[in-house]
Amino acid sequence: MQSAYGEIAALSMEEAALERSAAYLHAQLSRFLKLKERVLICFPNHDRGSIGWLMEQAVRRCGAVPVLWGPEKTWKQLLQQAFFSHAGAIIAMPLIVLGLTKLKKYSGIPLYIRNVVTAGYPCLDWMIDGVAGGLDCRTWGCFGLGTTCAVAGFSCGKSLGVHLRDTEYGVDIVDSDGAALPAGETGEIVLYPKKQPWLRHFTGDVGRVETAPCPCGCAAPRLMDIRPGSAVDPDLAELGQRLQSWTSVLDCRLDKGEYGLEIEMIVFPGEKLPKLPSAAKQVIRPWNPKEDAPFWYMPLADETVFLEEGY
Ligand SMILES: [Zn+2]
Repeated sequence: MQSAYGEIAALSMEEAALERSAAYLHAQLSRFLKLKERVLICFPNHDRGSIGWLMEQAVRRCGAVPVLWGPEKTWKQLLQQAFFSHAGAIIAMPLIVLGLTKLKKYSGIPLYIRNVVTAGYPCLDWMIDGVAGGLDCRTWGCFGLGTTCAVAGFSCGKSLGVHLRDTEYGVDIVDSDGAALPAGETGEIVLYPKKQPWLRHFTGDVGRVETAPCPCGCAAPRLMDIRPGSAVDPDLAELGQRLQSWTSVLDCRLDKGEYGLEIEMIVFPGEKLPKLPSAAKQVIRPWNPKEDAPFWYMPLADETVFLEEGY
């Protein structure tokens, strides 16, 4: 299906849109960030117009102090930065924070992170469980268009889904033919800017919209039960979740290549490992603190096009 990813991302980078998004995130983050608190911000890039850059602006507006990590930085540097900066909060893609919780457990280095904000990719329940349990922190999710500045929602204060930023973005829930479903039903999430509703991005993720009043007092509709849709290979997703759930697996990369399943895993030496399915290619390496950096998530097909267009 034709998707308007690039157009929506470009609109979100216009000066006035960036200002509105920074103000919106400032309002969200100020619910829990403290004055002068160090906030570790981890994204594939921090260039102007990226989610990493936008978060940095919002953190500064809260009177907190951004500490930047990535790109091409190692896992070890992530752990060191989290420890030495005395970060009280972290804003990152879900699997990066999950990796940090595993590093903390393996190394025994204490971290005092009170709040985690995930952005860039949907944070699934099993990731939230791993992060909240491993860091003993509160988790929040920022919903948007990949790692662009198109921020379309933020976690409910009572953890009852994601409140949509309905002054800027709308969401339709559609069936497999792209037809809108009745209110409350579960289907693919389609995101569009309110001012240009013909620009529709089929996110590939599944969810439902709840319009009943929220106990937290926010009137904006809520996106609930977000999970990957049919665009994601269910076997790979299930295996990825199973492997990543192990605290002995720092990072893994899965692919279906020409000859079958390919698995690459970075593990902590001396720890018990999950049983693996038979695979055409299997690389299991102990963590090399000097070199190993996260396998960044593969970009979405649309995101690849977007990057190639030179934005
Ligand atoms: Zn709410």
